Amino acid sequence: MIPVFKVAMAPDAPERVAEVLRSGRVEHGPRADAFEVELGRRLGNPRVAAVNCATSGLHLALHLLVGRDPYRPDPTPERDEVLTTPFTFEGTNWPILGNGLKIRWVDTDPATLNIDLDDLERRISPRTRAIVVVHWLGFPLDLRKLDEVLDRAEQRLGFRPPVVEDCAQAWGATYREKPLGNHGNTAVYSFQTIKLLTAGGGGLVVLPDEELHRRALRTRWFGIDRADDRTRGEYEVPEWGFRFPMNEISAEIGLANLELVDDLLARHRANAHRFDKELQGVPGLEHTERPDDREPTFWAYPVKVEDRPGFMRRLDEAGIMTSIIARRNDEHVTVAAAREPLPGLDSVADRVCYLPVGWWLTEEQREHIVDTVRAGW
Ligand SMILES: *Cc1c(COP(=O)(O)O)cnc(C)c1O
Repeated sequence: MIPVFKVAMAPDAPERVAEVLRSGRVEHGPRADAFEVELGRRLGNPRVAAVNCATSGLHLALHLLVGRDPYRPDPTPERDEVLTTPFTFEGTNWPILGNGLKIRWVDTDPATLNIDLDDLERRISPRTRAIVVVHWLGFPLDLRKLDEVLDRAEQRLGFRPPVVEDCAQAWGATYREKPLGNHGNTAVYSFQTIKLLTAGGGGLVVLPDEELHRRALRTRWFGIDRADDRTRGEYEVPEWGFRFPMNEISAEIGLANLELVDDLLARHRANAHRFDKELQGVPGLEHTERPDDREPTFWAYPVKVEDRPGFMRRLDEAGIMTSIIARRNDEHVTVAAAREPLPGLDSVADRVCYLPVGWWLTEEQREHIVDTVRAGW
């Protein structure tokens, strides 16, 4: 069976992890600091904070931007909604609820599968506290258009809702030649097991300014400054926080895998470009739209197909795994109260399916996928 996802692990990772275990220092320490610095260097933005997963990172990001504190008056209690997309993995959205805020769904752009920015603009209101967007499959959202939407909202409402970008599937993606995490918002990456760059679990919060960066470094660890001398109890917690730091084991796995990731990404992209060409004109199959001012990661390869169950069955019989990755989040009972009509999402939700496109495909396997799809289902 050709898998949709596969774990990429550097050959020297086991020995490197063994050394960390023998060192006696396994929680947050110098390896996590080194990983963090290197990630910031590669992104071109040193304002980064490594955390234990992207879900924690999203929780922390929202907390920093709009979190409620029971001991401080909330100056804008009427702003109780976060605008977000249901077309994503649940890890994007549950941190909104975790911060005590309501979800307001925004429709999906059927062409790109990212959030529909026109619908987003319509839904920004005096109740909007923040906005969460996802670069789905590592295909960057139109961040310039998002900025224009925010400019107009600011003129109309007198405030600019802060934005969190979920970059969990987007390590290596660029928008107008800059890596995601450099466009004025707070961005969060994931190093979960099946993400392109894995640390066996981990995440990174990327901050747009010094003040947020300083707060992120504190609040990821109880609100305590690690440089403080705690042995005599002479330290202060100006702002309470969580227990979200990355540990040394994950950081070492991440450092080992950083040596592979550029090659892996190049192979995802090369395979995707072949599919773009070779799956043109297949009856019942539609590609997503991908403007060329951005470079996606192709964490998986999206297609929109007629008779999706038949398509998936046919590929399964040919030894090719396909996946639908996640259920549309607005259908979960836990958020039933947030239900709204979403015609864009309705038009694609039952047609989208993901093909294997990753670094593990051999030349023959890639051809086998193309031949199988072209033969019809
Ligand atoms: C993987 C993923 C997450 C969660 O990442 P973790 O590091 O596992 O917490 C969140 N959002 C999206 C879009 C994801 O793909």
